[in-house]
Amino acid sequence: MNFDALIIGGGAAGLSCALVLGSAKGKAFTKDKRIGIITHQKTSHLQNALFNNVLGLQSGTLGSDILIDGKQQLKAIYPHVTQIETEKVGAVLKNPEGFIVKTNKASYLSKIVVVAVGYTNLMTIKGFEIYIEPHPRAAIEKNRIWLKNTNHLIEENLYVAGTLAGWRSQFAMACGSGSHVATDILTLWNNGKQTKIHDKVESI
Ligand SMILES: Cc1cc2nc3c(=O)[nH]c(=O)nc-3n(C[C@H](O)[C@H](O)[C@H](O)COP(=O)(O)OP(=O)(O)OC[C@H]3O[C@@H](n4cnc5c(N)ncnc54)[C@H](O)[C@@H]3O)c2cc1C
Repeated sequence: MNFDALIIGGGAAGLSCALVLGSAKGKAFTKDKRIGIITHQKTSHLQNALFNNVLGLQSGTLGSDILIDGKQQLKAIYPHVTQIETEKVGAVLKNPEGFIVKTNKASYLSKIVVVAVGYTNLMTIKGFEIYIEPHPRAAIEKNRIWLKNTNHLIEENLYVAGTLAGWRSQFAMACGSGSHVATDILTLWNNGKQTKIHDKVESI
């Protein structure tokens, strides 16, 4: 399976990125664009999180529910975004046509890759070694990492989002980072014209 943009990671940043990319459905510049997300969620920090401090989330919301609901929301309103379940990425290798993303079950070719796998030092995806550095905004004793980037861009067509991009670990920040990357990709697809996607209430 080939993609124009493939997101790795089904946590806060990855799902947010997928939702914003999906929401550009119907725009001329996304016609024929194939979007995918590898929705691995086993190691998401949302699995144990309990939210009382996020605008728009009822206090007591469970991160584990957000993981389930997020995938369902994406499937229900943006079904053209391919969700790849139960696969874990082991390598991302550069290729003349983009990147080969290798999982434990398959290989995918994508022109653009967004990596949103969280900031733990257990991240062992081959191909990213040269970009790994200590996280600039986390307690040293936690051994968190980031992939060195400038405004989410690691190198041409390779983006990082969420805590792994260097943001502190707050849900809204990870979601914002994923959304930001999505609008950067949409801007690229829209020939550099600054792009955002807003839905609005129809006036009566
Ligand atoms: C216990 C706890 C409580 C928290 N409470 C709050 C709170 O009250 N308020 C708040 O704002 N924030 C809170 N947070 C922080 C919030 O959960 C994180 O900031 C947020 O989840 C980070 O999003 P992320 O997308 O960077 O990483 P994650 O949500 O961790 O997502 C990373 C995703 O990548 C996937 N992945 C990993 N490796 C691979 C691989 N090789 N291939 C494919 N996929 C992979 C994982 O399974 C996961 O789904 C809490 C976190 C924890 C742990």
